[in-house]
Amino acid sequence: MNLAKEILKSEDEIAERVRQLGRQITADHEGRELSVLGVLKGSFVFLADLIRQIRVPVRVGFLEITQSRKSEFLTEIIFSSSFQVEGTHLLVVEDILDTGITLAYLHQQLETRGPKSIRVCTFLDKPDKRKVDIHPDYVGFPVPNRHVVGYGLDYEGRFRNLPYLTYVE
Ligand code: 5GP
Ligand code: MG
Repeated sequence: MNLAKEILKSEDEIAERVRQLGRQITADHEGRELSVLGVLKGSFVFLADLIRQIRVPVRVGFLEITQSRKSEFLTEIIFSSSFQVEGTHLLVVEDILDTGITLAYLHQQLETRGPKSIRVCTFLDKPDKRKVDIHPDYVGFPVPNRHVVGYGLDYEGRFRNLPYLTYVE
């Protein structure tokens, strides 16, 4: 396993795209407070940059989804701290949308907690690999079917600190 030499998205390209997303999210939420919910761990870098480009009041929370080792079934959502979902406009922030199973499950669980609205923002999207019908409201970049790393995304816990996006081969 090696890091590819090719850069998928540079630091500058990422920064520009994050500014655009921030403008779009701001325009769509004028006059509202937004509750931003990051899915750990991969989304933390993107989320930190994104919220600083959003010009409406924001609250931030994090959650982690634990996956059962024995099966593909997702078993548990752990909120990092008490975070109010009921009555809020939620923006779920993900690092990457692949099969969509994680987000579909999360969406379903969050809906039972009575938010006013739920929107989904994913930094990366692999539309070719989708297994469930889920359509994110905001997408940073579509990416090919490679294992992408950098800007928060890991391979076996490493490479989250790369400021650009590349992949392992
Ligand atoms: P899915 O949409 O298949 O339920 O799962 C998406 C999750 O799989 C992401 O949140 C991420 O943790 C992981 N994942 C999928 N593709 C990649 C990839 O190319 N790179 C990294 N680092 N994680 C990925
Ligand atoms: Mg993830």
